[in-house]
Amino acid sequence: SFPPEVVPQAPEDPLFGLMRAFRADASPDKVDLGIGAYRDDNAKPWVLPVVRKADEILRNDPEANHEYLPIAGLASLTSRASELLLGKSAQAISEKRVASVQTISGTGACHLGALFLARFYKTNGAGRTVYLSNPTWANHRQIFSNVGLPLATYPYFNKETRGLDFDGMKGTLADAPEGSIILLHACAHNPTGVDPTPEQWREIAAIMKAKKHFPFFDTAYQGFASGNLDRDASAIRLFVEEGFELVIAQSFAKNFGLYGQRAGCFHFVASPSSEAADITTRVASQLAILQRSEISNPPIYGARIASIVLNDDALFAEWQENLRTMSGRIIAMRKALRSKLEELGTPGQWNHITDQIGMFSFTGLNETQVLKIRSDAHVYMTKNGRISMAGLNTKNVGYVAKAIDKVVR
Ligand code: PLP
Repeated sequence: SFPPEVVPQAPEDPLFGLMRAFRADASPDKVDLGIGAYRDDNAKPWVLPVVRKADEILRNDPEANHEYLPIAGLASLTSRASELLLGKSAQAISEKRVASVQTISGTGACHLGALFLARFYKTNGAGRTVYLSNPTWANHRQIFSNVGLPLATYPYFNKETRGLDFDGMKGTLADAPEGSIILLHACAHNPTGVDPTPEQWREIAAIMKAKKHFPFFDTAYQGFASGNLDRDASAIRLFVEEGFELVIAQSFAKNFGLYGQRAGCFHFVASPSSEAADITTRVASQLAILQRSEISNPPIYGARIASIVLNDDALFAEWQENLRTMSGRIIAMRKALRSKLEELGTPGQWNHITDQIGMFSFTGLNETQVLKIRSDAHVYMTKNGRISMAGLNTKNVGYVAKAIDKVVR
């Protein structure tokens, strides 16, 4: 049996706890700013029009069946997925330096990457520490500690400016043991919404190169952040062009709205060298072994939908339009929230709301204020003061601004 000293009751996942509390709240005014999923202006989930079309194509395809995918997943998806990240004419692709595996969305990609590194990266133990930004997506900690990799953090968020703590970040990366694994959010950092500028990325790359650090990119918001797929991949492309050997965890949950379909990919990119293609083949063979013991074959339906869109020029163009709709609405909500707070004369600076990017914003509200806004105004956000911009809409943004104003005063 499993006594409590052996299997203690685990705490509920805070985010899912928040969702439960929101559902149980009977107030007609309630606002959900916790959820990490896009909502339209009516606070409803949005099936992308292009995804509806691809779904229709798929359902009318007489050849479509429910057979197993290969262990590495749907090749028509993984190949396009690597082009999406690295660019269609990327040298890394033409030189066969990229190994790609379809995974259980971004979480599965992070896990497969973590598992691979735990098994094969510097197995003598030196410099195997994974550096996570402080703060980071809460699941990173669990995913990397689950496979036994030691964890550390690098400073990221400056509470005063509500922007990047660039000096702190650089200092820690420079002091970290050579060859450390550095987890980087490719764009739209979760939870802060703060990204380095292109110039800052170049400096980060220079330090990491000097220290021979290993970049682990997590990209869950490509195209969703700025509305431009290439711009949101620019940090990854910079590192690849700089010749880093690196890995990338890629999610299609947010940018395709395929959350529950669990579509994503993991990519390994080798540095340019005469052995690069050989290294890539060997890495791919080991990824396949790991994948086999974990999930055997990745899920087919969402992968096919993404693949249909990525392999058709007209649908691809329509997808970009849908991405601009989502990112545009979010950027509009950032502007609206900031201007409403400024109109109210809410104490403090609110420029960070529009300076930050992507799904989330770190408001700067403290835990007491977060709990007060929840009990007084039925506005739900995580305890660290993070709000999902997607939870705001033209109908509730004024109400939320007033509620923030009240708890800040
Ligand atoms: N990485 C980050 C930073 C995220 O914010 C998320 C989702 O919230 C993910 C990865 C992975 O999500 P999923 O497993 O749904 O693709």
